[in-house]
Amino acid sequence: MAPLEIYQFPCLSDNYGVLIHDPDNGATASIDTPEAAAVDAALSAKGWTLTHILNTHHHHDHTGGNLELKNKYNCIVVGPGAEGDRIPGLDQAVNHGETYDFAGHDAHIIETPGHTLGHIAYYFADDRVAFVGDTLFALGCGRVFEGDAQQMWMSLERLLALPDDTTVYCGHEYTEANARFSVTVDPGNPDLQARVAEIAALRADGKPTVPTTMALERATNPFLRPDAPSIRRHLGMADAETVDVFAEIRRRKDNF
Ligand code: ZN
Ligand code: FE
Repeated sequence: MAPLEIYQFPCLSDNYGVLIHDPDNGATASIDTPEAAAVDAALSAKGWTLTHILNTHHHHDHTGGNLELKNKYNCIVVGPGAEGDRIPGLDQAVNHGETYDFAGHDAHIIETPGHTLGHIAYYFADDRVAFVGDTLFALGCGRVFEGDAQQMWMSLERLLALPDDTTVYCGHEYTEANARFSVTVDPGNPDLQARVAEIAALRADGKPTVPTTMALERATNPFLRPDAPSIRRHLGMADAETVDVFAEIRRRKDNF
């Protein structure tokens, strides 16, 4: 089986659209649908025809193009069972621990509640690529809108179980703001400092900082590092529970 081809493009103010495509059988999925016109333009640019939509969660900037694209392409809409009634045009609900067969490629469904209660990530193990929506960002994590910090931390722990060489696509280009925050909780991390400089250079050139990798996030993303001694020392939480350190980092970011 040929590897998936992946095409990422910016849309709305700071969202990313992503198309995945099997070059042998022509199947093409849009990961979320921030904006129908932008997804359609990306399809035209690549010469691909939409066969699937894979939604991560119900927010409008991830499902807003579902119906228009479904009307045009008669594609199959796949989304989280736990919020199925809020996914426009849903055909196939998927749940934690299941695999969804996308044209011969197994997508492992990982429920990652917190940002929304039914949020899911899609992990294509054979291609070592994960689509994590608004749960994990480059140097950040999603705002906890519907769940609580405990749930969000459990969700991030599930993503932490993915291999280092997993390529991670997230829903937004928030990295520069996340970088500014990261150094306030983990100032002594040389890997983070090097990355912050790289991010500034990429953005100055108008280039994306997404996708990222699990290895890079593990080493630099403070939301994945509540057990790091340097962060605990800096927050004065040396002996605190992991989830409490995570909650404190999230609280500080909400007020940053
Ligand atoms: Zn969202
Ligand atoms: Fe979003």
